[in-house]
Amino acid sequence: MTHDIYLDANATSPVLPAAIAAAADAMAACYGNPSSGHATGLHAKLLLDGVRERTRRMIGAGSGSVIFTSGATEAIQTAVLSALCAVRERQASGESTGDLLLYGATEHKAVPEALAHWNRLLGTGLTLRVLPVDGEGRHRLDVLRQLAPRAAMVCTMAANNETGTISDLAAIEKALLVSTSKAFWMVDSVQALGKLPLALESTRIDYAPFSGHKLYAPKGIGMLYVRDGAPFTALMAGGGQESGQRAGTENMAGIAALGAVLAALETGDTFRTPAQLHGYRSRLVASLREALPGIVFNTPLHAALPTTLNFSVAGLSSSDLLDVFDAAGLRVSAGSACSAAKAAPSYVLEAMALEGWRCASAVRLSFGPAVDDAFIDAACERIAHCGRAMRTGGLGQPLLHGGEDVIRVARDGASAWLALDEASRTCVVIDPAGPLVETIASMIRSRHYRVRGIVGTSSGVDALAVRAKLAELLDGQLDFAGTGDPFGWPAGSASVVLGLATSSVGIALGGQVVARISHDGDTSRSYLMGMSTGGALAPADVRFAFTNMAPADTHRDPSEQMGGLLNGDTVVCPAHDSANLICTTPASSARAVPPPDSMELDPADLDRFLRERPDAILVDVRNPWEHEAGRPVIQGRTACNVPLSRLPSQLAQWLGVESRPLVFICRLGTRSQRAAQCLHRAGYAQAWHLGGGLATHFSVRKSELSHS
Ligand code: PLP
Repeated sequence: MTHDIYLDANATSPVLPAAIAAAADAMAACYGNPSSGHATGLHAKLLLDGVRERTRRMIGAGSGSVIFTSGATEAIQTAVLSALCAVRERQASGESTGDLLLYGATEHKAVPEALAHWNRLLGTGLTLRVLPVDGEGRHRLDVLRQLAPRAAMVCTMAANNETGTISDLAAIEKALLVSTSKAFWMVDSVQALGKLPLALESTRIDYAPFSGHKLYAPKGIGMLYVRDGAPFTALMAGGGQESGQRAGTENMAGIAALGAVLAALETGDTFRTPAQLHGYRSRLVASLREALPGIVFNTPLHAALPTTLNFSVAGLSSSDLLDVFDAAGLRVSAGSACSAAKAAPSYVLEAMALEGWRCASAVRLSFGPAVDDAFIDAACERIAHCGRAMRTGGLGQPLLHGGEDVIRVARDGASAWLALDEASRTCVVIDPAGPLVETIASMIRSRHYRVRGIVGTSSGVDALAVRAKLAELLDGQLDFAGTGDPFGWPAGSASVVLGLATSSVGIALGGQVVARISHDGDTSRSYLMGMSTGGALAPADVRFAFTNMAPADTHRDPSEQMGGLLNGDTVVCPAHDSANLICTTPASSARAVPPPDSMELDPADLDRFLRERPDAILVDVRNPWEHEAGRPVIQGRTACNVPLSRLPSQLAQWLGVESRPLVFICRLGTRSQRAAQCLHRAGYAQAWHLGGGLATHFSVRKSELSHS
């Protein structure tokens, strides 16, 4: 994949070239202070007035005023402050004001936060009340009609940033008029600019905030419309700029850029017509349906902006989908950028009462109205590529790809192990956890493995129930009958000699064996896997040990507890990996592990490192579907894919051969760091990882290229 496809325009948009040129010109040629009386100042003032006039035309401001701000958040504060100061005056003069601050349940967080903040600071003592929305995200007009007489201020957005739902402003206005409510009305119009027709003067709206960076202007410029006659209190006092309504020297570069965008909107052919945008959306919808079977759209298309799609896919989380899209260079998001750091489900979708899985799996795809056919072609092609990568990589329908002998299945803190023998297509499942049974069953089914045992390292009713559930799902592929002993061990297994003369029993997997060891009077068990010869599994042949022995398994030498049944390179697979070690070796506690940063390659140093170490292998530890979506090629070297689930299996092979430098890579540098640490603990010193991940590496590259 060569270039990014940016489909997150509701978070912020790229800046239009004409806007960049206008900003540069405002800084280079028209740099005056619009408050200065000389010609240079007048020149800047002319520019300022021109953009204000154009803005007024574009939003239909009529006799209302337009104030430039730093963005919509500031405009929202100004509107709320103005309304609440007026409410306070009414309260002081004994006038009735209503006791509620009513706001839509899906408003941007800036709105309820501003209401709470200024209500507290001004001591207005009103109650914040959520105006609920229906399943399409539209305001509940019945509730509005009921509450409007009690409202001192009503805040409703024109279109939602997460779902694109377009509010029925005419119906809201009617409800306010019919109730003869005296409430001040703010309509957050950020997502409407350039996408919906606006004629503010002909409405009852008192305040309308806007933001430049949602429509091809840079960040740091916004505006507030104030209806003629609506109360106004300045948020910032100072040098009297903006007719005393917003002090501080104006952001002329931002204003000039905004002016260029609005000029393009008013006169040029830069922006697409609504019909064209609807056509683009239909094409994206068709591509998504093809690529993601099971997709559901979270807002009915007829109720939404043509530039926003919000969807969920059954069985997949938002982060699964974002990982694939991001690996393919397709930039989308799970919801608003402000909530991206919090993994919580979207409050907007929850307010629409969508089922939990839809809220937890939601993805927002949004584009700006200046995109063209070629962009949509490329986006559709990239979506199709993601669909293929997900199928090949097994996202949603986990696959065994062949060649594995041990796999760690892990998700949300639950884990399990699969011990496999490819030649005989037989396997043993060790410690399956409840949330993973469906995944494990579908992996085993994907390559028609026979299941020789489903066993645990501990006994207990819960574990028993999980094993029984898995056995039920794999009925028809089981090579054993019944539930076995309290650990699930099947009846009738053959005897095996371990170490010098420890007799045990084992389950044959082709030429390999999975042998069991009992600890502490058989209150817990471990399992050893390796090649058996003549009914014996010699310590030198034990490749894997599955155990729940010590909580910090790496800090103790399992061979002590296992009476010398292992060798120094046996890969020890912890049953409950609370320390997130993935795997260790018996000798790991004796091996010095370097501090994490000494195994970290700075993104700027990676190219040099690879030039100096031509034998280095790049290892992508992301999931197979992420790898398929965007196979990393650095310095002409294509990375191989060893996801963390397959690291133990691969480690067993790496430990046995000549040591080549390994450079682990992943998206953000977290998984690759764990892999490098795991190898160092196992005594494989030639392991590094790319700090900051591919995301940082490619952005460093990009900025180097743009500066060269
Ligand atoms: N309102 C809506 C609907 C938005 O989408 C945003 C931006 O995310 C804002 C307000 C805040 O805008 P700004 O970033 O200009 O402060």
